[in-house]
Amino acid sequence: MQTIRGFRDILPEHISLWQKVEREAFALFESFGFKEIRIPVLEKTDLFARSIGETTDIVEKEMYTFADRKGGHLTLRPEATASICRSYIQHKMYATDPLRKFYMTGPMFRRERPQKGRYRQFYQIDAEVFGVESAYIDAELIFLLNELFKRLGLTGLTAHVNSLGCPECRPSFQRALLDFLGEKKEALCENCTRRIQKNPLRILDCKVETCQRALQGAPATIDHLCPACDDHFAIVRTTLKKQGVEFMVDKSLVRGLDYYTRTAWEIKTTTLGAQSAVAGGGRYDGLVKELGGPATPAIGFAIGFDRLVEVMEQLEIASPPPPLDLFIIALGDAAREQAYHWSCQLNQRGIRTEVDFREKSLKSLMKRADKLNAAHVLIAGENELKKNQLILRNMETKNQTSLSIDTLVPELLKILKS
Ligand code: ATP
Ligand code: MG
Repeated sequence: MQTIRGFRDILPEHISLWQKVEREAFALFESFGFKEIRIPVLEKTDLFARSIGETTDIVEKEMYTFADRKGGHLTLRPEATASICRSYIQHKMYATDPLRKFYMTGPMFRRERPQKGRYRQFYQIDAEVFGVESAYIDAELIFLLNELFKRLGLTGLTAHVNSLGCPECRPSFQRALLDFLGEKKEALCENCTRRIQKNPLRILDCKVETCQRALQGAPATIDHLCPACDDHFAIVRTTLKKQGVEFMVDKSLVRGLDYYTRTAWEIKTTTLGAQSAVAGGGRYDGLVKELGGPATPAIGFAIGFDRLVEVMEQLEIASPPPPLDLFIIALGDAAREQAYHWSCQLNQRGIRTEVDFREKSLKSLMKRADKLNAAHVLIAGENELKKNQLILRNMETKNQTSLSIDTLVPELLKILKS
């Protein structure tokens, strides 16, 4: 049996970087007042279709959707924002305290062409803020991402920032875009031809080369911002500049989801080839209302966890797990029974201890102690038990200490805790 295409196992020997990222990210989120939320993997299809947008790649061709037994349609979540909005509305969080900050991590599912940095089940680390319109939140989220990547030791990243405007400025931009596309319509792909009617902004995100070529010199959203959006974006830029957070204004950046308004950004890396975005985010001030809640400004981002780890591996950033404190070599049934209890007692007191309960020779168990990188080895053979004298070997200094069984656990605690 094999995993299905685009799905993969993440094996224990690769997990330490994942854990390091989670530790650093969650600590930083908590420090800024974010709270963890856990949402289901499966939702009604309608939730994603309505929020991400009917004419987006995700909804048009990438979702894992199936008919439920009772007729409705369900979808494996392709992203987290829609579900977190649903939860915010469903639990009427806006009524008790409209300002909420959430973070989560978990698998997302999109049926795209698998390649390096692109999987059908992939992981995101997600953060969302509800209820704040102030541009300082936009700056704070970009700062937070920058800080996280700095703490993780990442280099070679660039933040691309843009403003997509609001419903106020959208019509003027769409008119300019449609004018520009005028005689170029022939060059557009079939999808984009359809999008012209439904959602012209989507065309800017099309990956088809002929469309990309036709779009050279196309009008940009930031040249059509209303005064309020213009001011908002100016605060984001000056705040980041003042802090020394590096970014570039990228007029051509449009995210692949329809709900974005105002600030949108992507963090790109130079180390992963075509799959260059390691994180993306933006404002979605209209989405909570669109999904049936009260008008609530909101903003968030998602980090591509798989890609982030791949960048860290390329940069040879390591995170070795803490070594084993003690490996007990127990030879014979009587020794194994004793070793079992010692190990449990030591682990209860926070000493990382392991016993290999198989019937193996001293030599092969010493080899295992080496492989496990144990700091100490306790040797309990039949002779040692008879003499009531066990040998504790410090694997680094090679010093050996003789310990009596009667006071073994307290003695070990004293030595190993220091
Ligand atoms: P891309 O342009 O690379 O397809 P996207 O705009 O579809 O990215 P988002 O929906 O914004 O991505 O998701 C945020 C992040 O999740 C991306 O920046 C990327 O790092 C990661 N991501 C998206 N799709 C995949 C995938 N299929 N496999 C692995 N990571 C992914
Ligand atoms: Mg995509």
